[in-house]
Formats: sequence, structure tokens, C-alpha cells
Amino acid sequence: MTLDGQVALVTGGSRGIGRAVCLRLATMGARVGINYVSNPAAAEETLAAIRAGGGTGFLAPFDVADGRAVQEAVKAITDRHGGIDILVNNAGITRDGLMARMKEDDWDAVIDTNLKGTFLCSKAVMRPMMKKRQGRIINITSVIGFLGNAGQVNYGAAKAGIVGLTKSMARELAPRNVTVNAVAPGYIVTDMTSGLGEDIQAAIQAQIPLGSLGRPEDVAGVVAFLASKDAAYMTGQTLHVNGGMYMGN
Ligand code: NDP
Repeated sequence: MTLDGQVALVTGGSRGIGRAVCLRLATMGARVGINYVSNPAAAEETLAAIRAGGGTGFLAPFDVADGRAVQEAVKAITDRHGGIDILVNNAGITRDGLMARMKEDDWDAVIDTNLKGTFLCSKAVMRPMMKKRQGRIINITSVIGFLGNAGQVNYGAAKAGIVGLTKSMARELAPRNVTVNAVAPGYIVTDMTSGLGEDIQAAIQAQIPLGSLGRPEDVAGVVAFLASKDAAYMTGQTLHVNGGMYMGN
């Protein structure tokens, strides 16, 4: 599973799942762009870890929800590194709250970052990929997009939206040999889930047949597969990485 000579951009690559994806793709030989928006120290750490492992990477700070910033950053990366072969749309946030109390701003922020960000970043990279007749776009959705969750109508809508976006994009880009797939993690130990109380974590764990929350590396391995040659004949799919918590498709 080599990615030698390829350039990958991982949104939200500085921490959590994105960080593990960056490290994994770099191990496979890709030059990895680490996107982040607010925490340069974490991104620097990820870059240092890539280099310590003998890989190559670079920082790519921009807000995925800001169309102009996305376009400028993608152009700068393309000019400097000769194109983007792999895009992993991973940047995501939560603004939880029961719907009756959810503020419109909380709805907008989650839809803008998680769903619109995926659209904007994909739109920015797709043209050169189509021209080159080569490209991989991998979108990180969530088990919540399939199961729903009280307190997460914004997040659930964004993540279910990503599944629909993935399928339609896959159909549009397939004639140019660009594949678009999604990965739906279950509960993974990251900053996003560390705030959950112990009782909630225990309740979640009880619903997972494999008996534990996942690690960022569990998701990164599946993203790496989708970026590799072995997944050349897959498009429009969602791969579930959730310890068996949800088995539908
Ligand atoms: P973390 O909170 O650990 O990391 C989020 C990352 O996204 C950070 O790198 C952050 O950068 C970046 N980010 C946030 N907003 C923006 C933005 N507007 N523009 C650019 N980058 C941004 O999240 P996880 O690793 O837990 O989650 C990663 C993805 O996986 C998300 O899409 C999430 O919804 C999804 N997921 C996570 C699950 C879990 O259990 N953890 C389960 C299912 C799905 P910075 O630090 O600079 O703000």
C-alpha cells in the first residue's frame, strides 16, 4: 500500500483522528498537508511526529468553512507541491444541545464546518484531479449520521448529509477516475469524546460488541486503505469503523 510521490491534504489533521491519518499516510510515503484552524502547537507536533518517522509533511492552516480561504490554500499547495492526489475531509466540531434549546448559531457552526467544509474542500481540489484522471476523496462521517443521537440534531444532520454528498460526488467524478468514499467512525478516543462523563462513556461501551471505544489509528487504517490502490474499484461507499455498534449500511 504505497503512496510514494502523492500529496495528501487532511483537514483537521492536527489532532485526534486526523492526526492518526496524517501519520499513517506519511508512513505510506505521501507528502501530507496538515490542516488546522486554531491550534498551531498541535499541528507542529503532528508535523514533528511525521518527520521523526522519516516522512514528509507541511502545515496548511485555514478554516474549512471559509470558501475563499479554502481556495487560496488549495492553490498555494498546488503551486508548491504540484497538486493534491488525496483529500481527507476530516475537520469537524460538535455544538451539542437538545433541539428545543439549540441556538441557530450552533446549528450553523456545525453544518458549516462539518458539511459545507467538506463541500468546499472537495470543490477546490476536484478540477485538477479530474484533469489528471486520478484522485481520492475520503469523507469522515459518523455513526451518529446513521443512528441519530438526542442532543446532536446539528451533528447528525451534517454527518448524514456527508453520506448523501459522498454518493452524489462519487457519481459525478467516477467518469474521471476520481473516487469518493466515506468512513463512519463510532466512538473514538479523542479530544471530541474526552469531555463525555464516565457514566456516559460506560453506557456507550455497553453498546459496543467489541467492548471498547476505538482508537484514532483504527480509523486511520481504513482511510489508508481507501487511499491505496487496493480500493481503486470502490466509490460512493461508507465503511463503518465502530466495534460493531452499528451494523447496517
Ligand atoms: P478533534 O476535536 O480531536 O479534532 C478536530 C480537528 O478538526 C482539529 O484538528 C481541529 O483543528 C480541526 N478543525 C475544527 N474546525 C475546523 C475548521 N473550521 N477548519 C479547519 N480545521 C478545523 O476531533 P476528532 O479527531 O474526534 O474528529 C475528527 C473527525 O471525525 C470529525 O469530523 C468528527 O466529527 C469525526 N468523528 C469523530 C468521532 C469520535 O468519536 N471522536 C466519531 C465519529 C466521527 P484546531 O485544533 O486547530 O481547532
